[in-house]
Amino acid sequence: MITKIAAGEVIERPASVIKELLENSIDAGARRIDIDIEQGGTELIRIVDDGHGIDPEDLALAFSNHATSKLRAADDLFRIGTMGFRGEALASIGGIARVLMQSRAEGHEVGAEIRNDGGELSEVRPWNGAQGTRIEVRHLFYNVPVRKKFLRTISTEVGHVCEAVQRIALAFPSLHIVLRHNSKLVYEVPSSAGLTDRIALFFGGDIRDQLYDVQLSQGPATLSGYIADPACERGNAKWQYLFLNGRWIRDRSLGHAVQDAYRGLLMVGRYAVSFLFIDLPPDLVDVNVHPTKCEVRFRDSQALFHLVRSGVRNRLHKANIVPQLQMPINEGREPVATAEPWKVTEVPMREYSPPPVPTYDPPLIHSETRTVNETPQQQPSRNVNEVPRPPEIRLASAPHRAIQIHNSYLVVETADGMLVIDQHALHERILFEQLQRRFRAGQLEKQRLLIPEPIDLPGPQAAMVLEAREALLDLGLEIEDFGGGTILLSAYPAVLGRASPATILEGVVDQLIHHERPPTRDQLLNHLLATMACKAAVKANDPLSQEEISALMAQRELADDSHHCPHGRPTSLLFSRKELEKQFGRI
Ligand code: ADP
Ligand code: MG
Repeated sequence: MITKIAAGEVIERPASVIKELLENSIDAGARRIDIDIEQGGTELIRIVDDGHGIDPEDLALAFSNHATSKLRAADDLFRIGTMGFRGEALASIGGIARVLMQSRAEGHEVGAEIRNDGGELSEVRPWNGAQGTRIEVRHLFYNVPVRKKFLRTISTEVGHVCEAVQRIALAFPSLHIVLRHNSKLVYEVPSSAGLTDRIALFFGGDIRDQLYDVQLSQGPATLSGYIADPACERGNAKWQYLFLNGRWIRDRSLGHAVQDAYRGLLMVGRYAVSFLFIDLPPDLVDVNVHPTKCEVRFRDSQALFHLVRSGVRNRLHKANIVPQLQMPINEGREPVATAEPWKVTEVPMREYSPPPVPTYDPPLIHSETRTVNETPQQQPSRNVNEVPRPPEIRLASAPHRAIQIHNSYLVVETADGMLVIDQHALHERILFEQLQRRFRAGQLEKQRLLIPEPIDLPGPQAAMVLEAREALLDLGLEIEDFGGGTILLSAYPAVLGRASPATILEGVVDQLIHHERPPTRDQLLNHLLATMACKAAVKANDPLSQEEISALMAQRELADDSHHCPHGRPTSLLFSRKELEKQFGRI
């Protein structure tokens, strides 16, 4: 009975069994592991490894609760080399399934086998097999109908199994691992496949081709691995892999660190893809706080947050400068008639120049506003902890030499090429940053409506907006409940001047419903500021005067990230001089 209850903690589904068994095989030094499952693992899980095996006399012991061969010292609970330490996985699995375990230990002529039927141990018999361990787990939860009920469809269970296998395969890049479902091959990952090959196999070649390697040490901690280009963004954080001392972990704070590093490069509600490995002396990690060992507690979680954020951010700065257009090269052949698509590649890193102190500039386009907030004008001070700006592309000529084409783009000469700027995207970014500064300085102006405007929303959405009322008020958006799904809007941020109140609220609702969890105040704020910036910015097809062009170019120089609009799209494209010369046959 005790075993069954304990199993509930660790063993939720076939994937949990597989995780525990794989960890045992790895602890046994296995170099190849074969996994066979049937019906998503509910009928059969068979794991065969070539590790050091189990002595016949220890076979029964392996199934006894809290019997582990791995615990050597009390303060040694979270060791680098070993995955398991609780000594209860096998006992738990034996209690809720029909298990056959066969093993031949290193240096033994014959092996031995034992059965565990829901906690009933058989006697140990000789077994003739190769060195290593072979475990079959059949009819999971056959004696725990309540648990069995919680199993989902076979394809869902297979999905969880694949994830468990992926995590192990990524954490141990020299492990040969094979997964079959109902005798069909799912993955075969040879030991020669390195980390990036594994990423390609599991997540696609597109991701593999857009990875940047990360490497950073700070004190006793080391960060390494890969991050993907912002273009690889996903709708959830599942593809942010994090491994601590070779073990996959879940850590919300470090997830935030990754997202924070990508800020401004991803659209709202989108998530970066990353494969990060942290190595840390075990004494800086607190002992297991979670039975599945997926969650840990760090002695200095803030230092790790900074390690991850700066490691990722610095690498993005280094890699992700202005996307550059590369023209198709016709090596000596006739020019191709059909235009090939432009290929966007990264520009090599340029030297870093320290950012100038930002100054206040009123937005280019004014709306009739009234300052509600009477905070004295003050120069916003730059937070010294802020991450450095990306290296700038220096302009060759005075900014006013930019010209406008198609009333939409600005073209300007740079030190080694030509820059084409999307006027709307750039202005949007500039206004976004100004708004952020003004917000921080408490200077966001409110526009009060003479008559509050009623806005009808579907019931649940109205409730969500009302729940976020306090946060919205901070942002200058004053709402009241009018009942029956109607919300009264009485004031909104003045910069939104031209936007209709209904559109503003719709944007907020979008934010609220497209998040799994309620958006944080910061997310809401960023979204609102991005919306304001978008509404107030010059549009495509807006003719600009020479003064406006000069002002835009001057402010571009002062922007923290002039390369991306608040939604993460590029603001400009660089044509290098070299590329032009190549195309004209000069070099
Ligand atoms: P833990 O891994 O925490 O020690 P488990 O219940 O997972 O506890 O395993 C109990 C013991 O069984 C292990 O300590 C190990 O000695 C032995 N064992 C389990 N699986 C294997 C395997 N594949 N190869 C060798 N020994 C194993
Ligand atoms: Mg174990």
